[in-house]
Amino acid sequence: MTRLIFLGPPGAGKGTQAQILASALKVPHISTGEILRTAVADKTELGTQAQAFMERGELVPDPLVLDLIQERLVQSDVKPGWILDGFPRNLLQAIELNRVLHEIRQAFERVINLHVPDDAIIVRLLARGRKDDDELIIRRRLEVYREQTAPLIDFYQPQLVTIDGNRAMEEVTTSLRHLIVAT
Ligand code: AMP
Repeated sequence: MTRLIFLGPPGAGKGTQAQILASALKVPHISTGEILRTAVADKTELGTQAQAFMERGELVPDPLVLDLIQERLVQSDVKPGWILDGFPRNLLQAIELNRVLHEIRQAFERVINLHVPDDAIIVRLLARGRKDDDELIIRRRLEVYREQTAPLIDFYQPQLVTIDGNRAMEEVTTSLRHLIVAT
């Protein structure tokens, strides 16, 4: 059983690493950012409500994200486990996640904190060229990360493992694989 939470600033490589690990472990990779981007592209009700926040680099309001994650975690494909990427993003979401997991009698094993220094992140994100990767928006997303998401490093201290994300992709993947084997 694998249930992991990926934590880290935007551009730390969470999405890439979570995806690689999820396919190796044959569990779904649940990225709230990806679900939200699809909702925006499909012009669903959720997408319409989320779009303006995403374009400004702000967090989408908690009730929207909590609804979508709650729905996702009860689907049948998540029975063998899951890797969460981009959720939780603040303390309320972390507390709500604990509540939902308790309700559905699940528990996560580890929180993986991918650490990458700010200057490296900005270079990476500018190179990525996603719609919300404009420099001003990047800076806002980093600020939001620092204010709202970074406090989760303390919240999750007992389950937290920090991995140096400022290395070649393959090296980070190797460290993660070793960690999972050791878990
Ligand atoms: P990401 O792909 O994880 O970088 O997310 C892209 C954008 O989606 C973020 O900048 C937020 O606007 C929104 N988003 C993703 N996950 C969350 C979340 N857990 N809570 C609030 N907003 C989120």
